[in-house]
Amino acid sequence: MKELFIGNYGVEQVGQRLTAKGWVANIRNHGKLAFIELRDREGILQVFADSTIADFEKLHDLHKESILAVTGEVVARDERFVNPHIKSGQVELRAEKIDIIADSKALPFELDNHAHAGEEIRQKYRYLDLRREKMTSNLKLRHQVTKAIRNYLDQADFIDVETPYLTKSTPEGARDFLVPSRVFKNQFYALPQSPQMLKQLLMGAGLERYYQIVRCFRDEDLRGDRQPEFTQVDLEMSFVSEEDVRQLVEGMLKAVVKASRGIDMLDDFPTISYAEAMRRFGSDKPDTRFAMELKDLTELSKGNPSLFLQKGLKKANGAVLGICAKGAASAFTNRQMAALKQSVMDFGVAGFATATVENGQITGSLKSTFKEHNAQLLDLFGAEDGDLIFFATGSLKRVQEALGALRLKLAKDLELIDERQLNFLWVTDWPLLEWNEDLGRYQAMHHPFTQGAFEEGSNWQENPEKIMSRAYDIVLNGYEIGGGSLRIHERSVQEAMFELLGMKKADYERDFGFFLEALDYGFPPHGGLALGLDRLVMILAGEENIREVIAFPKNGQGADPMLESPSFVGEHQLADLRLDLRD
Ligand code: ASP
Repeated sequence: MKELFIGNYGVEQVGQRLTAKGWVANIRNHGKLAFIELRDREGILQVFADSTIADFEKLHDLHKESILAVTGEVVARDERFVNPHIKSGQVELRAEKIDIIADSKALPFELDNHAHAGEEIRQKYRYLDLRREKMTSNLKLRHQVTKAIRNYLDQADFIDVETPYLTKSTPEGARDFLVPSRVFKNQFYALPQSPQMLKQLLMGAGLERYYQIVRCFRDEDLRGDRQPEFTQVDLEMSFVSEEDVRQLVEGMLKAVVKASRGIDMLDDFPTISYAEAMRRFGSDKPDTRFAMELKDLTELSKGNPSLFLQKGLKKANGAVLGICAKGAASAFTNRQMAALKQSVMDFGVAGFATATVENGQITGSLKSTFKEHNAQLLDLFGAEDGDLIFFATGSLKRVQEALGALRLKLAKDLELIDERQLNFLWVTDWPLLEWNEDLGRYQAMHHPFTQGAFEEGSNWQENPEKIMSRAYDIVLNGYEIGGGSLRIHERSVQEAMFELLGMKKADYERDFGFFLEALDYGFPPHGGLALGLDRLVMILAGEENIREVIAFPKNGQGADPMLESPSFVGEHQLADLRLDLRD
């Protein structure tokens, strides 16, 4: 075993005769002397060899990424040659003996951090890609984060319990990955979308505080921050209030930031309601690292005869909203403005317009429309000369979402975001249900086990749309990094909830009977939350794609180019499972 990683060699090793083992990151051979950058997971060590040593000629045809064992003396570098960019930059190893432990073929792509090899090739040779410093450091960061989480939860008396991966398919939520059973004819296991019911049953088992860093599986279409399998920090607690869960998680996230960034976050995370998040930011996961909030012009527009305004106000729940980009009056070309307009219209808004502010006046096509309200409008936006204002009209939710997305795009384009900042935010007071147009029924906004925020004994089912929930989301820099809720723990309430979701007694008895029965045996009140570990680490690593913080991720199509998975299987395997393939 190596006693010391070579990337950590320093002045303490000067004068020692050591054997350094590592990969050849680079070699400069000047004929009579050669400099080798030898790398291990902790960094680079410069090796210096001159032609007087017997092994010198071994260096002639050496490929990068071959592994060497170099024995020699660690010497201090002359001050002029100290390299401040690497940890071992004050020393180098003067080679006396060089052994080639493993040869490398010519590489399929360059491994330095700045080379832009395509993602497909990086994933095909993932074991090479992971040698890049950035990737190694992402994996180390992930380790620091999970270690901080485990330490924190251990101190808070949580018990780490594993739950099965071969579970049961239940309706609600995303599409399941199914696993055919060989033993039980025509029956299937499902991979868990989350251990939701199982962790609740662990509360029924009297564990009181459970956690697990667990893989979850959802067969959904993929995006940059989604993978078919992903990792959750899943936790559940008995006898708690929403505040208890949130405080616990907040403390845990602060411990993670301390461990990974060395920063003490002293302030409480801000909390806003779902309604306020939508109203101010047009998003249920607002990025609060910059302002540019949405402003509501609906009241001010009501008596206005402008067709642009009236067309939007006529829509169900019609609204006129705007946002103001400071100093951006001439930031965009016509083409860029057209693209921005299209991106807003794609949300299905009724109308979109822009205006600049010049000499204290709104200009452009809306100049006369808002003539009377010019001062009021400028005041509302806090707008000054040189600003650019965007207006959208139509159904409230669509306009909010459209401007919410525009707000993010503008912030990126105008470079308004301080990338070092970490803005956590709790979003609370969610509606319990939302209407699903396609299914023609309500669906749970969080999941069907979430408690509604209603008084005991009240007729809460009467007006389903109005019921609020005891759910909470945790947001970081505009990403939802987790969510949870207090749960239903009474059978009658859980059954009523299933019925609100359009299930018949026979259906929920079949799918959830085991769970409902458990509620009959002294089931404690409980609640919890799950964090998306990949997303959290992605943000802390300053990456934009979760694939960068997962050792062996799937590609954008959900395949693994290295394992060449998914793949066809043999006839006998299919026969065991009694499966026939169809085109
Ligand atoms: N199981 C939930 C989810 O995966 C989180 C929770 O409610 O604890 O979203």
